[in-house]
Amino acid sequence: MRNVVVLGATGSIGQSTLDVIARHPDRLRLAAATAFKRAEELVQICAQFRPELAVVGSAQAAGAIEASLREVAPETRLLYGEEGLIEAASLRGADTVLAAIVGAAGLRPTLAAARSGKRVLLANKEALVMTGRLFIDALAKHGATLLPIDSEHNAIFQCLPPDASNRLDQHGVRRVLLTGSGGPFRTRPLAELEAVTPAQACKHPTWDMGPKISVDSATMANKALEVIEAHWIFGATPEQIEVVIHPQSVIHSMVEYRDGSVIAQLGNPDMRTPIAQALAFPERVDAGVTPLDLVRIGQLTFEAADFARFPALRLAYEVLRSQDSAAVAFNAANEVAVAGFLHGSLGFTRIIDVVEATLAAMNHCAMNSVEEVIEFDARARSLAEARTRAMR
Ligand code: NAD
Ligand code: MG
Repeated sequence: MRNVVVLGATGSIGQSTLDVIARHPDRLRLAAATAFKRAEELVQICAQFRPELAVVGSAQAAGAIEASLREVAPETRLLYGEEGLIEAASLRGADTVLAAIVGAAGLRPTLAAARSGKRVLLANKEALVMTGRLFIDALAKHGATLLPIDSEHNAIFQCLPPDASNRLDQHGVRRVLLTGSGGPFRTRPLAELEAVTPAQACKHPTWDMGPKISVDSATMANKALEVIEAHWIFGATPEQIEVVIHPQSVIHSMVEYRDGSVIAQLGNPDMRTPIAQALAFPERVDAGVTPLDLVRIGQLTFEAADFARFPALRLAYEVLRSQDSAAVAFNAANEVAVAGFLHGSLGFTRIIDVVEATLAAMNHCAMNSVEEVIEFDARARSLAEARTRAMR
């Protein structure tokens, strides 16, 4: 029996995870679940799964659901705020933590899971991008393991021999090929991008996801974050990471070996596949995913990634060749700019302008502690906010 904590249970990844857990009551149990604002949804989750612990965003949100929670799940303890998230992430009765909070808000809880020696199932890529080496070292120091949930990294994990991370050369790996659909604006005339709306940006052609990652997919900042994520998870150098556009999202990524072999992982674009793979690893369980029908799909196509249309991709490689803090600035500025775009105060093409300007405005340096990361993140955010206001 695996006891699973789901950080971000009300989100897109959180919901897919609960769906997989519900299919396997004999082997998976929900130990704790967290939500931010949608506290009533958390009450429903508790009624169904009866976890030990539930965590919401604020004392106010906790007060609002306390009575109804006691009614449907009297044994579930209720906490709130970051301390509650950290308590959930390090819960003694749990062995597995699904990190699915979006953005830097997930940093401390995800790190707490690593420091508690859990199996960390990582969807919250921003936490790893921000902390890089510090996160990887924390896993090793505390005997924790990381299993990637991001579909590309989960695919690469499945295409590599066991324990190949950080030993790619020894295992004859030449490159990892990250596939990306190209998002909703892959072929839209560049002149029209200026005026696209949040609703258009969030309408992804192949994946159904939360708003922040949907916008990131439209700017390809998501693929940029994933290039950095691949560097840290697999120990791949920038030269060993290539992005290939594959609009059908059927091949989720590939590994190319020295002898010319290329191994790919395929499946329908449904996050329950990587989630089930990681939850059950090294076994395999049903994920409720429709079987892949290649004959119906007919064609799989590929294109080169267009760095001029998607400058975020160029920035990803610049960040990897720069100092640690560049990744912190990239992520912080992107979060600020995406929020500005979603609130209607920043044009779509300005998102990456804000990121690039913030990166260029800061002196970059090594990050020696998580506190340094958090401090640099705050400085990058205030610079990015000033840029966002200036670009209105
Ligand atoms: P979402 O917006 O649907 O859900 C986010 C979750 O985080 C919610 O449960 C919300 O309550 C919680 N949350 C938000 N802000 C919070 C805060 N300040 N404090 C505590 N909790 C907070 O997002 P999502 O699409 O599920 O993505 C979650 C993470 O997974 C992201 O890092 C994303 O990049 C990654 N990811 C998502 C997908 C996908 O298909 N959705 C695929 C790969 C990776
Ligand atoms: Mg992905």
